[in-house]
Amino acid sequence: MTVHFPFQNTYAELPANFFARVAPTPVSSPRLIKLNRPLALHLGLDPDRLASPEGTEILAGKQLPPGADPIAMAYAGHQFGHFVPQLGDGRAILLGEVIDADGVRRDIQLKGSGPTPFSRRGDGRAALGPVLREYIVSEAMAALGIPTTRSLAAVMTGESVLRETELPGAILTRVASSHVRVGTFQYFAARGDTDGVRKLADHVIARHYPQVATAERPYHALLEGVIARQAELVARWLLVGFIHGVMNTDNTSISGETIDYGPCAFMDHYDPATVFSSIDELGRYAYANQPRIALWNLTRLAECLLPLFSDQQDKAIEEAQSALAEFAEVFNAAYQSGLRNKLGLATARDGDQALAQDLLDTMAKNQADFTLTFRRLSDAALGPDHDGSVRDLFADPSAYDEWVVRWRQRTADEPLSPDGRRNAMLSTNPLFIPRNHRVEAVLESAVSHDDFAPFERLLTVLSKPYEDQPAFAEYAQPPQPHQRVLQTFCGT
Ligand code: AMP
Ligand code: MG
Repeated sequence: MTVHFPFQNTYAELPANFFARVAPTPVSSPRLIKLNRPLALHLGLDPDRLASPEGTEILAGKQLPPGADPIAMAYAGHQFGHFVPQLGDGRAILLGEVIDADGVRRDIQLKGSGPTPFSRRGDGRAALGPVLREYIVSEAMAALGIPTTRSLAAVMTGESVLRETELPGAILTRVASSHVRVGTFQYFAARGDTDGVRKLADHVIARHYPQVATAERPYHALLEGVIARQAELVARWLLVGFIHGVMNTDNTSISGETIDYGPCAFMDHYDPATVFSSIDELGRYAYANQPRIALWNLTRLAECLLPLFSDQQDKAIEEAQSALAEFAEVFNAAYQSGLRNKLGLATARDGDQALAQDLLDTMAKNQADFTLTFRRLSDAALGPDHDGSVRDLFADPSAYDEWVVRWRQRTADEPLSPDGRRNAMLSTNPLFIPRNHRVEAVLESAVSHDDFAPFERLLTVLSKPYEDQPAFAEYAQPPQPHQRVLQTFCGT
């Protein structure tokens, strides 16, 4: 029973220095842990066949499906601010591209499928824990409506990987609208290969920004497009309390999708300085720093594109600066309108920004849970009788009482009815996010006890983040003090 992948590969047709042709390394005894059936269907793949022994071998890199043209992509990147001229897919292999049911081209990539010419000192493998974490969080982000790479499958390899200890090995099948990163542009720019930069830009325009092809200055418009998508993406992250954790330029997607779920985490109580990643010692990628870092990463992209803007360096730099100046505008518009939605404000008024900021400041001072505050505030839209559950989230509930008076004054001259406002707020303020303590517990059950039931349960809950799911009420709860996760690890 052969598994048909309707491949239509384009990246593999770019010049040979864009990638290395390399096949996955076969593994001993693959075992399918999870298949994302709805996503498979959306990609034009037969889920039953993918779940068959042959399909599992493909998802484990033991067999290549017909039409695959496996490559490891070349890229560079700034890691924590330090430039590394050659990174590349050290443990990922792009099998090929398919066109999904919406007509969007999607990469199908195996992550953890063995060494490539870009592996440096790494083993090319992934451990089960990080694979399940990426599966959970990427699918949660998709359900929240945030642009992200997706997870099609997780398989165990039957082999172990050596990290600090020996761990079960696994492979994730990642689906992305492409794997081109800021670091991909940096790879060619760092080599002075302007022709490579241009070819990559043309590929990206055709694939992600077709509307700019006919613009007066297409490369300038490309930069503006990437800036706008990144600005909107980071605003979306802030609005759900997401902390990426490793916003290196090689983890910044040109398509505007969230990519590379290493030490990422959602914050529980609101604190803009929150950092979870064990390797982010200086807090470079702290929650509130993310917009600044995105702009920094985009500035690196702009530098790569300078030679395409103009032969005159001054003119090129001026053009880049004018595009980069748009970041703040797009970010602020997206973030402020998102906050207004979270507060149930259908119209925009002077003072809204201060109203939202004062709530956030009050939450920070009172260790109020970010997700639950906004979710329960949705109920408070019905009136002061419904304030109890949200005010209890504040260490000093009277701080909430002071703030909520202003919110009620402001909403009084809004067009929505209290019921309408509550419904609008419930559809934008999730109840269920992948809380760290839940994710860690799921990984522990899987890795130490070979028990995947908690993983399945968590995926079910997170697939409907905006719905009350009374049977799963405990999943909405913040951690007890002893359950709190203070650090997350990449596990690479
Ligand atoms: P990441 O921190 O996952 O974004 O990875 C940064 C770089 O390290 C990329 O070039 C990866 O391909 C590479 N890398 C991470 N883990 C491994 C591994 N186990 N084996 C080989 N390369 C790796
Ligand atoms: Mg990466």
